[in-house]
Amino acid sequence: MIPFLDLKRINEPYQARISAATERVIQSGWYVLGKEVQSFEQQFAHYCGTRHCIGVANGLEALTLVLKAWDFPAGSEVIVPANAYIASVLSVTHAGLTPVWVEPDPQTYLLDPTRIEAAITSRTRAILPVHLYGRCCDMTPIMDLARYYNLNVLEDAAQAHGALYAGRPAGCLGHAAGWSFYPSKNLGAIGDAGAITTNDDGLADRLRAWRNYGSAQRYVNDYAGHNSRLDEVQAAVLSVKLPSLAADNERRRALARLYLAGLGPTVLLPPADQIDSDAWHLFVVRVPDDGQTTSRRDALRAYLREREIGTDVHYPIPPHRQRAYAAYANASLPISEQLHREVVSLPLNPSLTDADVEHVIDAVNQFGR
Ligand SMILES: *Cc1c(COP(=O)(O)O)cnc(C)c1O
Repeated sequence: MIPFLDLKRINEPYQARISAATERVIQSGWYVLGKEVQSFEQQFAHYCGTRHCIGVANGLEALTLVLKAWDFPAGSEVIVPANAYIASVLSVTHAGLTPVWVEPDPQTYLLDPTRIEAAITSRTRAILPVHLYGRCCDMTPIMDLARYYNLNVLEDAAQAHGALYAGRPAGCLGHAAGWSFYPSKNLGAIGDAGAITTNDDGLADRLRAWRNYGSAQRYVNDYAGHNSRLDEVQAAVLSVKLPSLAADNERRRALARLYLAGLGPTVLLPPADQIDSDAWHLFVVRVPDDGQTTSRRDALRAYLREREIGTDVHYPIPPHRQRAYAAYANASLPISEQLHREVVSLPLNPSLTDADVEHVIDAVNQFGR
């Protein structure tokens, strides 16, 4: 049996050190925004090559707080990939801004820089590239456009811990980046946690206030802020796991190489031109949809489920087709809609053995024979 994700098994190598770190925090008598948070913030900023890291409650808060701290006029537009995770879009609307959907590149599933310019209006203030599945967006043309049109760029790096673009780490490529340490991410806490990385000193100062009721000085409030503080236990756990992130990602790359070499023509493979730069948060293949009423993708999932192999879909419904965004239901985004019908994620995480992945490969290759 190969579950899609077994978090207990993923955390097993750290179990003793996580328990010790947790105990240390309990004994300290200081539980929220203390020296564990400060220490993790320093280490993670160093990892990302930024001057600042601000620990917050989760990934959605990280993105929302940056957009709020940028203080754009109400109704300003933010360019988002149409096949984003719902949280990326929620951050835009939570900040009182308007999402403008741009179709992804069908080869990489990432925001397509060649389609951005046509979506820019006089109200556009920011671009929100999502480094989906662990691969960085093509940031050079995105930053060139941002410079030309005077836009801010917020990386959604929640799936890209340790991913590189032209040799530089995710998180230092835009003006700010939002991170999630949800337990299933490449760097995962044992609960909710998030962070923002940035080189902007003024923004970092404002965010430290924004996450704490908008208050830099106790009982003095400069902004109508959030309670979005990172707690000491999560920061201590993240400090235990961060030193192993590079090795974990190497393991993910080794398993991705097995998949790329072994999977036959029943599925379309993800791009393999940057194996060593991508963080392989997910291994996403496509099962071409032949327009029949029963989806071939769902048939593959059922076939694998019978063989006790877990899969998942990231994501089954595009944000503009969610009831939460009914106002956008008539948007025409055919590339995203096709991707949502065809994508399926195969098991890939550092707790899997080569034999596990070979077993999944054999099962996928036998499908439809
Ligand atoms: C997980 C995730 C988020 C949200 O993170 P939370 O910590 O769950 O709020 C945002 N964007 C992407 C791309 C994600 O994968």
